[in-house]
Formats: sequence, structure tokens, C-alpha cells
Amino acid sequence: MGFFKKNKKRQPTKIEWKIKHNCLDLIIESAKSVYPNEFGAVLRVDDKQKDTISEIILLPGTVQGESHTIFKLHMMPVDFNIVGTIHSHPSTNPNPSDADLELFGKHGKIHIIIASPYDYSSWKAYDYNGKETKIELV
Ligand SMILES: [Zn+2]
Repeated sequence: MGFFKKNKKRQPTKIEWKIKHNCLDLIIESAKSVYPNEFGAVLRVDDKQKDTISEIILLPGTVQGESHTIFKLHMMPVDFNIVGTIHSHPSTNPNPSDADLELFGKHGKIHIIIASPYDYSSWKAYDYNGKETKIELV
């Protein structure tokens, strides 16, 4: 463990993700508005800043239920600026479920889960492996 500790912290990440304030605000508002159901959408980066999440897009046919959001990812538009997913958890637990991990592994590079009470401190981001990842608020 100790041997790897230093490396692990310094492990270079390919992309230093950022998210725009107004985009996170929209995520918070959307999650609140469908509570106690889940909210789900995809994350889109800026055309010029490919590391900055600036928009969310609701996919047609995404089913929002009380226990899980089913992403109809075959409905995803051909858009190379879509980098991952966002969904809400009506509980206070922002950790990914097994189904979430499966989704993360299949689609996208960055995934956000926002948990109740849906505020600036109740969300977490993960990479495709389900490893927690930092996103800077810009
Ligand atoms: Zn989930």
C-alpha cells in the first residue's frame, strides 16, 4: 500500500475536467424539479474548451424512475462533444450503483451523480472505471 501511495496521488489524468457554474446550477434545478424521481441527461463540453462541461442534454426516451434512470443511449445524437452522463439519486448517497458502474464503463469518460439535497456539496464525479474524479467549478 505505502509503496504505491505516492504514485497514486500523482497519477496523471489525461483531462482536467471543469464544469461551468451555470451548468451545475441547471443540474441542481433539474434534479430538484423531478425529485423524488431520478433525473438523467448527458454532459456536453464547450466547442472551444473540450475539457469544460457547459451543457446538459436530455435524451429523448430517457426513463426517469424512482429507483433508477434508464439511459436510452442509442438515442444519443452523433455529437463528439458529449463526454458522459449525469443522473440524480433521490437518496443522500452519491456513490454509483452496480448498474451505474456498468453504464460508466460503456459510455463516456466522465459521469456525475448528484444526491439529495442537491447542492454544491452533494455531487461527485467518476471516470469510466467508477473511480472518483475531481471536476473544477469554473
Ligand atoms: Zn445511480
